[in-house]
Amino acid sequence: MIAATNVVPTGSRATPTDGHSQPVKAAAKLEAAQQALSRCKRGSKRRRKAVETVARLHRKVRCQRLDHAHKTALGLVREHDLIAHEDLKIRTMSKAPEPKPDPDKPGSFLPNGAAAKAGLNRSISDAGWGVFLAILNAKAESAGREVMAVDPRNTSRRCPQCGHTTKENRPTQETFHCVACGHTAHADTVGALNVLRAGLVRREAQPA
Ligand SMILES: [Zn+2]
Repeated sequence: MIAATNVVPTGSRATPTDGHSQPVKAAAKLEAAQQALSRCKRGSKRRRKAVETVARLHRKVRCQRLDHAHKTALGLVREHDLIAHEDLKIRTMSKAPEPKPDPDKPGSFLPNGAAAKAGLNRSISDAGWGVFLAILNAKAESAGREVMAVDPRNTSRRCPQCGHTTKENRPTQETFHCVACGHTAHADTVGALNVLRAGLVRREAQPA
């Protein structure tokens, strides 16, 4: 989650930004090529060609993602003086899959295949984020912009209108609906706004 703002010269303007969307066309081609490869007979000429195609598309996807990350970071740095984002280290710790209690043995936990997989997926996408944030930090530094990592806890649960914080405020993945004051917005907008505010608070707290 990234939120960025201009803080000079006329106060702040919040722009929630999805810094994470990536080109999907090459990725879809790669997936199709991998499926085609899995249908080829071992040792066949066709299989060898399919292996080459998959490798080529892999390189292409990697290149496009990097290029996209550079462009996104450059756009953010050009247009904003302060860029706030969720602290990845805290995020990985606090949002790791929760173990399931074993009903037969109080105090022990069941292995949870689905949860373990969710954790793996998260660590993969966090790795993509790590690359993006490294690029962003480098560009921000050379342009004299500030990048703030903020505590991600409750950024998706706190109401930006009244401050009421509960997971019930988030009935679906996309929707934010405050159970206290009725404020309704897209969940990503709320998340970005909370991240931005936390970034501004952190900035104020720093010695000038
Ligand atoms: Zn509220």
